[in-house]
Amino acid sequence: MSSPARQATDRDSVLAERRHVMVDDIVAEARETASHIGKSEFAPRVMEAITRVPRHEFAPSMSKALAYENAPLSIGHGQTISQPYIVALMTDLLAVGPQDVVLEIGTGSGYQAAVLAEMVKRVHTLEIVRPLAVAAREVLERLGYDNVEVRRGDGNLGWPDAAPFDGVIVTAAARAIPPQLVEQLKPGGRLVIPVGGELLTQDLLLVEKTEEGEIKQQVILPVAFVPLRGRRGH
Ligand code: SAH
Repeated sequence: MSSPARQATDRDSVLAERRHVMVDDIVAEARETASHIGKSEFAPRVMEAITRVPRHEFAPSMSKALAYENAPLSIGHGQTISQPYIVALMTDLLAVGPQDVVLEIGTGSGYQAAVLAEMVKRVHTLEIVRPLAVAAREVLERLGYDNVEVRRGDGNLGWPDAAPFDGVIVTAAARAIPPQLVEQLKPGGRLVIPVGGELLTQDLLLVEKTEEGEIKQQVILPVAFVPLRGRRGH
C-alpha cells in the first residue's frame, strides 16, 4: 500500500491533469467563438491563473467530480459558478495587471475571485447571500488567497470605501448597468457585466471609462447568468 503522502501526491497530479484538460477545452471554445469575441485566444496570464486555481475546492462535495468540466456548476442557494470558458472570457476582457485593484459583484463560491487574486494586487468581492459569503471567505483563506476581501452586501451599490477600481466584474445579470459601478471605475478602468432580462439571455457588455472620463460600451456575446438581486436588480 502506498503512504498517505504518496496518495495525496497522486490525487494532486490527477486533479492537475483534469485541470489541463479543462484548459484545453477553454482554448478550443475560444477558437470556436473567435468571430463573436474578436480574438481566438485569451491572454496567457488569464490561462495561467485558470491553470493554477483548484476549481474543485470551490465546488460543493456533491459536484466535485464535475469540477473540471467546461460547464457551469451548482453551488447551492440557486446559484452557479460560471462555465470556465465564461470565467476566462470575462477575466480576459477585464485586462487587469499585477498592480490593479478590482471589484467583483457576486462572490458565489469564490472561484472567480481566486482567478483574479492570482493576477492582481487586491480583490474586493461582494456577495448578497450571507452563507455563500462566509463559505467563500473560508475557502479563500484556507487556500492562502490573502489579497481577497469578501464582504456581505448589495453589489448594486459597489464598494465606495475601496473605490476607485481598475476593473469591476459582475457575475450576475443586471437589468441595467448600476451607475455606482461606473462611478467607482478609475479613468482607463473597465467594467464587465451581463445585462438583460431575467428569463431571456443577456448581453455580456464591456464598459470602458476613458482617461478623459468618457464611457464607451461594447456588446461581446449573448450569455445566461443568474439574476442580480437587490436594489437595482430583478
Ligand atoms: N462568481 C461566482 C459565481 C456567481 S453566481 C463564482 O465564481 O462562484 C452569482 C452570485 O451573485 C450569486 O452567488 C448571488 O447570490 C450573487 N448576487 C446576486 N445578486 C447580488 C447582489 N445584488 N450583490 C451581491 N451579490 C449578488
